[in-house]
Amino acid sequence: MIPSILPTYNRAPLSFVKGEGAWLIEADGRRFLDLGAGIAVNALGHAHPDLVAALTEQAGKLWHTSNLYQIPKQQELADRLVEATFADTVFFTNSGTESCELAIKMARKHFFDADQPERTDIIAFEGSFHGRSSAGIAAAGSEKMTKGFGPLLPGFKQVPWGDHDALHAAIDDNTAAILIEPVQGEGGIRPLPDQCLKGLRDLCDQRGILLILDEVQCGVGRTGRLFAHEWAGITPDIMMVAKGIGGGFPLGAVLATENAAAGMGAGTHGSTYGGNPLGCAVGCAVMDHVATPEFLAEVNRKAGFMRQRLEGLVAAHPDIFTDVRGLGLMLGLTCKVANTDVVKAGYDTLLVTVPAADNVIRMLPPLTITEGEIAEAVSRLDAAATTLETA
Ligand SMILES: *Cc1c(COP(=O)(O)O)cnc(C)c1O
Repeated sequence: MIPSILPTYNRAPLSFVKGEGAWLIEADGRRFLDLGAGIAVNALGHAHPDLVAALTEQAGKLWHTSNLYQIPKQQELADRLVEATFADTVFFTNSGTESCELAIKMARKHFFDADQPERTDIIAFEGSFHGRSSAGIAAAGSEKMTKGFGPLLPGFKQVPWGDHDALHAAIDDNTAAILIEPVQGEGGIRPLPDQCLKGLRDLCDQRGILLILDEVQCGVGRTGRLFAHEWAGITPDIMMVAKGIGGGFPLGAVLATENAAAGMGAGTHGSTYGGNPLGCAVGCAVMDHVATPEFLAEVNRKAGFMRQRLEGLVAAHPDIFTDVRGLGLMLGLTCKVANTDVVKAGYDTLLVTVPAADNVIRMLPPLTITEGEIAEAVSRLDAAATTLETA
C-alpha cells in the first residue's frame, strides 16, 4: 500500500523536533550537530532569535494580501538586494524551482523583445541541479531526474562541466542564455574556477547572450561572499536565489539587470505567495546579518578553519576519504566508501551531513556555527570514519 506521504524520498529514521543554532534535537532527546542546515537553508541556524522575532512580529500583524497591493516588507527587501548586488530589480518566489522558471522566461522574453525570437535555447551543464519542475529537469537533463517524465520541454542543452570546446560548439543562433551554478551543489560541491566564470562572462558578451547564475545553494553568504560570483569579479544578467535567503522560511528571488528584465511588464509573470509579508520580513532579518562585512569575514575565517580540519581528517583516514572540495562553508568530502554509509555512520555519532553526487558528503553548516562546533563536528566525523574502517 502506498504510504500516506508520497514516497519520493528515502528518509533517515530521524525525527527532529527542535533546533537551537547548529543543533537539532531528536524526538528521543539526542542532540545532533547539524552540518546540513536543511540543505543550505538555515543560514543563521535554527530558531535564531532575530528571525523568530521578525516572523512572529509580522505574523501578529498581516500574513498575506497578494501582489495586487503594495507590500512594504517586499519593497524593503527588494531595495536591500538591489543595493547589495549587481541587480536593478527583483521578483520574489517561494522556492529555487520557481526562481528557475522565471529566469528562463525572462531570458526568452528579453530576446523576443529584441527582435531575436529565435533565441530561446538555454545551455546548462552536466551534473547541475535547477529544481524539479518540468523546465528545471529539462535544464539539468540528467537521466535520474528526467526518465519517465517525457516529453521533455524543448530548448535545453547540456554540455560537460569544464568542457570549453563543447560549450563553444553548443552556442548557435538559437542560444538565449548560459545557465550555471558557480558552485555545483547536488552535483557534488564542484566550484567553478574564477577564471572559468570570467571566461563565461566574456563569452556571453561576445556572443550576445545572457548569463544566468543559479545561486540557490551557493548564494547568501555561503561561500564567504554575499553571492559566489563576486569571487570572480563578474556579474550575471539574471540570478536565481532561494534557500538561505529565507533562513528556513520558504522564500526565493530572481535578481536581474534592467536590460535583462526590461520585457517583464505588468501581466507577464506572477505568483500568489511570492514576496508575502512573512517571507520578506524574515528575508530582511537574514540580510541584516549576512550582508555585513563582519559576518562574511567570520564565514571566511571559520571556513578556513573547517577546511584545515577536514584536510587533517582526510590525511588520517585515507581509506575512507580522498579529497576536500568546495568554497567557504560549502564543503564536500569525496569518499572511497559509499557516501551514504559515511552519512549513516555520522548519524551514529550524532552528526548530520548530506550526500551529493560524485560520492561526496556535503557540509553546509549554519553560517553562524562556532569554531568549537566545527571542531566537534570534525571529531564526530573522525569517529564515524574510524567505525567504518573497523567495520
Ligand atoms: C535546491 C536547488 C534548487 C531548487 O530549489 P527548491 O527550493 O528545492 O525548488 C535549484 N537550484 C539549486 C542550485 C539548488 O541547490
